[in-house]
Amino acid sequence: MSLSEVSLYLHVPFCKSRCSYCDFVSYTDFSSVDDYFEAVYKELLLWKQEYPYARLSTIYIGGGTPSDVPNWVNKTLHHIFRIFDTSRCEEVTVEVNPGCSAEVLKSFSRMGVNRLSIGLQCADDEVLNFVKRRHSVSDFLKTYSDARRYFQNVNIDFIVGLPKETEKSIEENISTLKRCDPEHVSVYMLETHSNETQEVSEKLSLAEDADEHYEMFITEVEKTWKRYEISNFSKVGFKCIHNLRYWNNQQYIGVGVSAGGHIQKMRYVNCVSIKDYISRIDEGKFPRAFQRLNSPLEELKERLFMGLRLENGVKIEELLEYMSQDELEIMCKKFEGLVEKQKGRIVLTQKGFDFSKSVLLNIVDYVETLQSMGGGGCVVR
Ligand code: SF4
Repeated sequence: MSLSEVSLYLHVPFCKSRCSYCDFVSYTDFSSVDDYFEAVYKELLLWKQEYPYARLSTIYIGGGTPSDVPNWVNKTLHHIFRIFDTSRCEEVTVEVNPGCSAEVLKSFSRMGVNRLSIGLQCADDEVLNFVKRRHSVSDFLKTYSDARRYFQNVNIDFIVGLPKETEKSIEENISTLKRCDPEHVSVYMLETHSNETQEVSEKLSLAEDADEHYEMFITEVEKTWKRYEISNFSKVGFKCIHNLRYWNNQQYIGVGVSAGGHIQKMRYVNCVSIKDYISRIDEGKFPRAFQRLNSPLEELKERLFMGLRLENGVKIEELLEYMSQDELEIMCKKFEGLVEKQKGRIVLTQKGFDFSKSVLLNIVDYVETLQSMGGGGCVVR
């Protein structure tokens, strides 16, 4: 099968310790690191075999904490550059945690990494301590200043709503951002889950006034960085190209445990256990826990759910591949005030953005109901 433009995500599931709010697949036992990266190499070869002409447009190495296993990250990048056509690869991002040494940052830059994402989360040591981050604000500042020697494109990640967070924490976030002046900022709201034990959920309940804190922070961020996605802000020319491919529902390969991909309408997610991952790869199989070929309705729901996160939304002509003009009009009418048409695109209004989480879920549910009723006349597929 042919596959030209594609992005590649590599999951590095290792962290020296676990943060109390963490939802990502990562392990503190490093005994299988060597075997894991050997298996990753084999998975890359399986992809090459399946799509020999795949050309990588972006690479993103996340985790976990890639900077906890820098030699393996560099070795794997070397494999990726050797195995795939990366001649038009525009962006290579690696996530690092504060405390990452200047030598490691330099080695990433030498290996071709041109974008760094640093997880500060909060510029308040009391909060960092409480949620068991391994670094302090001063560790972050040191790593950030080292990073500036090697990288012209740096993102800082924040989470709002962490326990112990106060208005002062948000003021510290703002002054740290102004002082650092990165090209890109991501601001997420802490996710809490209903299935957590009472003890965990008490520890992780959203900070009091989390909504107000979020508003306060975002308002300041938007004065300098342009919001181009619900949680992402950048200077001109520094949107994250890799993540834009997710939001635009384009093709990407995910490699490593728990990594997901979207290739020619196929969605898949790899297994989460390192042991299972290695043994499936050793059998010469893709280590998938889930795989499905999207129906037109599933493609439409994904297109809406991901695309409406973007400030410039989704092209109407792309939606019309999967829904009729009548269905589109009915949907716009139903969500009047929350979505609107703008220059051939459907976008969330400011109010839609403010309530994006529930609005997006409601829209995809509604579209499903609409199509199951056959509402709106002929559906072009
Ligand atoms: S460093 Fe990141 S991936 Fe690792 S435990 Fe903390 S939040 Fe999770």
